[in-house]
Amino acid sequence: MQLHSYAQGQWRAGTGGLVLAHAISGAPVATISSQGLDFAGMLAHARQVGGPALRAATFHERALMLKALAQYLLARKETYYALSPATGATRHDAWIDIEGGIGTLFAYSSKGRRELPNAHFLVEGASERLSRQGSFVGQHIAVPRRGVAVHINAFNFPCWGMLEKLSVNLLAGMPAIVKPASQTAYLAEAMFRDIIASGVLPEGAVQLICGGVGDLFDHLLPQDVVTFTGSASTGHALRSHPSVQRHSVRFTMEADSLNFSLLGPDAVPGEAEFDLFVEEVAREMTVKAGQKCTAIRRALVPRALLDPICEALRQRLQTVRTGDPASAGVTMGALASLAQREEVRERVAELQQAGAELVHGDPWRFELQDADPLRGAFLPPLLLRCRDPHAQQAVHEVEAFGPVATLMPFDDTEDAIALARRGGGSLVGSLFTADAALAREIVLGVATEHGRLLVIDRHCAAESTGHGSPLPALVHGGPGRAGGGEEMGGIRGVMHYLQRTALQGSPDALSTICEQWIEGAARDDSVHPFRKTLEALRPGDSVVSAERSVSLADIEHFAEFTGDTFYVHTDEAAAAANPFFGTRAAHGYLVVSLAAGLFVDPAPGPVLANYGVDSLRFLAPVFPGDRLRVVLTCKQKNPRAGHDYGEVRWDAQVSNQRDEIVARYDVLTLVQRGEGGSAITEPAPRAAEPVT
Ligand code: NAP
Repeated sequence: MQLHSYAQGQWRAGTGGLVLAHAISGAPVATISSQGLDFAGMLAHARQVGGPALRAATFHERALMLKALAQYLLARKETYYALSPATGATRHDAWIDIEGGIGTLFAYSSKGRRELPNAHFLVEGASERLSRQGSFVGQHIAVPRRGVAVHINAFNFPCWGMLEKLSVNLLAGMPAIVKPASQTAYLAEAMFRDIIASGVLPEGAVQLICGGVGDLFDHLLPQDVVTFTGSASTGHALRSHPSVQRHSVRFTMEADSLNFSLLGPDAVPGEAEFDLFVEEVAREMTVKAGQKCTAIRRALVPRALLDPICEALRQRLQTVRTGDPASAGVTMGALASLAQREEVRERVAELQQAGAELVHGDPWRFELQDADPLRGAFLPPLLLRCRDPHAQQAVHEVEAFGPVATLMPFDDTEDAIALARRGGGSLVGSLFTADAALAREIVLGVATEHGRLLVIDRHCAAESTGHGSPLPALVHGGPGRAGGGEEMGGIRGVMHYLQRTALQGSPDALSTICEQWIEGAARDDSVHPFRKTLEALRPGDSVVSAERSVSLADIEHFAEFTGDTFYVHTDEAAAAANPFFGTRAAHGYLVVSLAAGLFVDPAPGPVLANYGVDSLRFLAPVFPGDRLRVVLTCKQKNPRAGHDYGEVRWDAQVSNQRDEIVARYDVLTLVQRGEGGSAITEPAPRAAEPVT
């Protein structure tokens, strides 16, 4: 089978090229070549066709595309499972790759609609007052970059690696060109075919290169972004490409990582954390046959526990059955290729030469279930032990990208921190301890070198997602050796494909640009804004309330009614001694409640529900006799795609008779769509529906 690339709206077969072998049987699976592709044309197609089409959609519309895509792929998952054994994967390995990748699309779809506005760009953070009178202000925005996201992926997760990157650039509004690693590209290509067949994405939003990237890098421009996952040597070469350098192309790199896992001295045999550690190290060695960038490579244990752990791990690893994943009872499959197996053997030999002794497994002689050791890329789990890890830099530097880990002892906490940091920057580290104070010391000692840290004790172990699983909500990436990149991390990952720009100007100008009312901009209080539908409402529409005085009886009534009899509201003598009040004062929540009574227009209308309050601050006390007034201003509208209502954020300022602001906050409501005035055309939803 000749793999095809998808370029400029067409599937194109390369000619000849590399033959990709089945990881288990060694039989040819596919041929791959990108010869004949017009790489400059692909970039131009993405810039001229895909980019504008994606940018025409809002964040929410793009988030809905991700969901539709995820559903489409999920319905076809068995196609990918059927191809997956050729990569050497077991069904469980494939689940991480296939459903883990599809799950990332779902997660970003949900996050995009919850955490981003239904708009074409992001207004980031609060406005900044830049002048004494407030006529000159600042506001950050973030707009989709007008270039192409070029994704160069590793061979180990052909589906997840593609989808975790696409999730974020598509949500941001940037088109992508995906280049899967050749060895497992047939699986990425199969899934990519469905991405195109789904018809969910606009033309030009995604293209695929099966094979080399040719002169693609020569045509990169300043708005482009490159995300690379693979070996440090390739990553460094690509990062220093003249086009990347000349145009300051954003470059994210995920490379080799000598991740550590540490056993606390409290976790002696018999304690739950001891067993959990053994299980996790064994699991990380065998899942995907250890071909995970996040796998545990260095297992750090208290010196006194080195031998007990070594013995427990050996026993556990003896239960691993390596062989054809199709054969019942097999728990570990093959590496991706025979070349990869040779590479791992070489790295293990390097570790041995550096003084690490092999204490379990033999890279040259091992039992296999229903598989041929000459044709399949198999290795058994290989456990090494290094008794003097300070003297052997290789154990902190040489990554054997297979079922390989090295045990090493530490003497005390300081020593453990020093060893963990010797990795020179890693994607992840984990601690197995019930001693939270120890965990704190180690976390703070090693955080600078790690993108993610996992602390496991008996209380969270059952629900833990494990050492090796990057999650859409959390940052994946690490400093130094790990490449210095950061992916996912929720909306943080989307920011990578947006350009942040600081705007300066008058409040009116910035309000118009941002479609958001900014402090100091004009207000319109001619019609109560609760009478206006979502379409009719404009940022700046406001209501200035009447005044209402607060009496001691109000405070006492509120205290009795709610049960909040805190002394400041009920005990004159005690309140007098309070440095902030000096006399009885109103409850903050009474102020907020009275404010609602002042600004609300009570008749049925387009406002459907109040669903929260953000950033509430009580800025000055309210005493009996004070008179309150509220100004409520429509700050921002956020129509929800696919719903007949949207969210409206209101600025609420409560002031007293001296015009001092006593409380300030954002009120969040749901407002009905509809033309013009207050007519409700559809039945109202019950409440803020969760976005799924
Ligand atoms: P690699 O040789 O660096 O390949 C990685 C990707 O780069 C592949 O798509 C490869 O394509 C491509 N590539 C190679 N040379 C290129 C060039 N000159 N121009 C453009 N693209 C080029 O890495 P590998 O040895 O296959 O992968 C194993 C390594 O990846 C391990 O060291 C592992 O630590 C690392 N890894 C890291 C992460 C992470 O998230 N940090 C995840 C997985 C793997 P071809 O396949 O077509 O050569």
